[in-house]
Amino acid sequence: MPELPEVETMVRGIRPFVEGRTIRDLIECPCPCKPLNYRPQFSEIEARVKGQGIKAVRRRAKRAILELENGDALVIEPRMTGLLLLSDPPDPGHLRLEWKLSGKRQFNSLWFWDRRGLGTVTLYENNEYQALIAEGYLGRDALEMLAADWSERVEKSRRAIKVLLLDQSVAAGIGNLYASEILHVSRIHPETPANILSRVQIKRLAEAVKDILETAILHEGSTLSDGTYRNALNQSGGYQNAHKVYDRAGETCLTCGVGVIERIVQTQRSTFFCAKCQRKK
Ligand SMILES: [Zn+2]
Repeated sequence: MPELPEVETMVRGIRPFVEGRTIRDLIECPCPCKPLNYRPQFSEIEARVKGQGIKAVRRRAKRAILELENGDALVIEPRMTGLLLLSDPPDPGHLRLEWKLSGKRQFNSLWFWDRRGLGTVTLYENNEYQALIAEGYLGRDALEMLAADWSERVEKSRRAIKVLLLDQSVAAGIGNLYASEILHVSRIHPETPANILSRVQIKRLAEAVKDILETAILHEGSTLSDGTYRNALNQSGGYQNAHKVYDRAGETCLTCGVGVIERIVQTQRSTFFCAKCQRKK
């Protein structure tokens, strides 16, 4: 589930303890579950990152990136249940990777923990990753999109706006949870075909994307009832308490106080909305 705000929180959490340090060792933890998806294979990643300094820790969409001094980039995609942690994993059995870091500080290891093991770890050589981003690989990061960018993208599509929001090639970083919240704040019905949105609705949508994602980052993301998502110190996020519609089916709408939150399924994913606040065109 980690979406843009959760990955940004992980990146901000580990950055002060990871940037500027050297990777002494990268170790695959003994986990009996299916291994992570590595590209190239783990032994090659291990050999190439060992002894490298970590120049910067960044986020792109729902991926965390360790930029190495030699220009290589180690890109970690948490997917469903992955976490980057400095301490206290939710359980030791699903620890997958340990970066042993040079020097003695408060934290001397970075961990990747993943219960379902759908996370991916990819090593890109020699600024290859920067080039891919420049070419538009991964789409545009949702936090960088302006109203004009949204206009250009929605005009071209007859897909339901909720489905479009989840398309990472349209805007990278938004997932199922924040898509429902964004459409609620924008007062847009989730089944509205993207190309019939009015200019006013597109403007509201652009503002809501920024507002919801930035506020969720300030609250260190959302920890849902499954408890999976944790920040770098294994603490819960706080934004779940601010959700207006997500996972609230059958409850009275917090915005209008009249409507009842409905749940529908779009492309196999749940969507939550208030039909009073988000009227169908
Ligand atoms: Zn409402």
